[in-house]
Amino acid sequence: MSVTPLDATQDVVTLTEAICNISSVSGSERALADALEVVLRAQPHLSVLRDGDALVARTLLGRESRVVIAGHIDVVPIANNLPVRREVIGGEPSLWGRGTVDMKGGVAVQLKLACELASPNVDVTWVFYDHEEVDASLNGLGRLARNHPELLEADFAVLCEPTAAVIEGGCNGTMRVVVSSAGVKAHSARPWMGKNAIHGLADVLARLERNQPDTVTVDGLDYRESLNAVMISGGIATNVIPDLGTVTVNYRFAPSKSLADAEEYLRSFFDGFDVEVTDASAGARPGLDLPAAKAFVESIGVAARPKYGWTDVARFSALGVPAVNYGPGDPNKAHADDESVPVAQIEACYAGLKHWLTK
Ligand SMILES: [Zn+2]
Repeated sequence: MSVTPLDATQDVVTLTEAICNISSVSGSERALADALEVVLRAQPHLSVLRDGDALVARTLLGRESRVVIAGHIDVVPIANNLPVRREVIGGEPSLWGRGTVDMKGGVAVQLKLACELASPNVDVTWVFYDHEEVDASLNGLGRLARNHPELLEADFAVLCEPTAAVIEGGCNGTMRVVVSSAGVKAHSARPWMGKNAIHGLADVLARLERNQPDTVTVDGLDYRESLNAVMISGGIATNVIPDLGTVTVNYRFAPSKSLADAEEYLRSFFDGFDVEVTDASAGARPGLDLPAAKAFVESIGVAARPKYGWTDVARFSALGVPAVNYGPGDPNKAHADDESVPVAQIEACYAGLKHWLTK
């Protein structure tokens, strides 16, 4: 099969359009990875490695610091929204169609700058990876971290995920626990012979109801925590006093806390009940107190705000690399059938990153 050519000398909006039109639903990224590889390998200033459908292209200038600029190249399934169109939406010239928000505007910015900046002021590792929109075990960035951890070493990382061109730092951690109340089964005609485990959950719910979650300042950003019952179950028949009731609770906690801190907090919060952790992912510190991150925020010149949802910045955080999100597109529009991005946001991110890397 021949490779669809991409021309990185085109303006960044036209390049975004071309990248969107090479369909790359998760698991079918090969055509786009092939196209990106041809362009990257043609740049004499880049050292390129391919792993599956992920590409890592690095400058090797011996600069004092190195940054990673990363983005995923897959999209969620097409919904009759390719090829992309140029439209005026809400008064703004926009690109409409699959991938325009999540996140081929960011990929186009990366590709164009990777080609243009032969001598940036820091060494840059450009990462393009597959399988972000599917099960975490398939994630291309996770695979790169396992296969080539040395290639992801850096002082700072920027993920070009959609943030509407503002900087979003770090992310909250998440933990799910099942809180159980134990009872004793009995016939509901003679309940005094047993102990009702569902009634026992009232205290669990009361504690949750009374709780005022904290807002925790981490590296200058305020992370709002939350603790919520998300599922409840109990009972085996309509004439039996239940001997087991469970509430599943989701705790979203500030990135200054470890998984162990979160678990300890939940065990003491639900003291007297059985608590089982079923799922957990640590958060990511925004690292905005670090010089490299400070310089980035100053250079871009837009406000930084906290990210609440879990994102791949946490993978960098786990590698010891502070990371932020910065890319074109309103994140609330990601995955929508009518996703669209104002072209001004793509141009702003292109100009912002270029200024940061060349000033
Ligand atoms: Zn994305």
